[in-house]
Amino acid sequence: MDPVFTDHEIEELNARFEHEDAREILRWALVDSDLERVGVASSFQAEGTCVIDMAAKLRPDVPILFLETGFHFAETLAFKEQLAERLGLNVVDLVGEHTVESQAAAHGERLYERNPDLCCQLNKVEPFTQALHGYDAWVTALRRDSSPSRSGIPILEQYRLEPGRSMVKLNPVANWTRREAWDYLRENDLPHNPLYDLGYAQVGCAPCTRMVFLGEDERAGRWDGSQKVECGIHVHTPAGGAASA
Ligand code: SF4
Repeated sequence: MDPVFTDHEIEELNARFEHEDAREILRWALVDSDLERVGVASSFQAEGTCVIDMAAKLRPDVPILFLETGFHFAETLAFKEQLAERLGLNVVDLVGEHTVESQAAAHGERLYERNPDLCCQLNKVEPFTQALHGYDAWVTALRRDSSPSRSGIPILEQYRLEPGRSMVKLNPVANWTRREAWDYLRENDLPHNPLYDLGYAQVGCAPCTRMVFLGEDERAGRWDGSQKVECGIHVHTPAGGAASA
């Protein structure tokens, strides 16, 4: 299947979007472009809440794709419910082949400690990749300044779902700072996950997230003690297909 946009078109759109307001980038994706099936991937973090708010104002029924790994903090799940109710969101929970219990039976307890790549593969990469087959484009809340591994992300990119199947990945707040995200929340009277108030800078699955200390990188609390920096859904090989990084 041909890509939705050619590499040249992506290049031109990136030149146009680099200094564009995030709301206008989302307006292009959700209202003006020919993209019919667009989903917003979110774990309901601060910048994700901003993107959800902007997207839902443009298209109230836009699917919000949430990876329900079974390992989230209770606070995250409660916050997700709170925001969904308040904004009337169309949240789609994505689940892998295992429950927490069946994963423990198949692969042993605490797989996230022994083999976090496999745990992410089972609970994030596989269900997410499967769900993406129903979309032409997906939207993230990635920010370049959140970590070195994200410093080079473009606003718009080809996402090669599998060999012969491309889609569009849109990072409308790529050039936002952390401060801009929190300013947006404040200006729009939006709530945040209460874990931020306890010292968490980023919030992922509970076993793989710790608070950060003064002076640490904001993603230092993710998969602490391992070389892992991404769950895998944001990493894909040039030849196609999601990698299990
Ligand atoms: S972030 Fe941790 S608990 Fe969540 S899927 Fe990945 S390894 Fe498993």
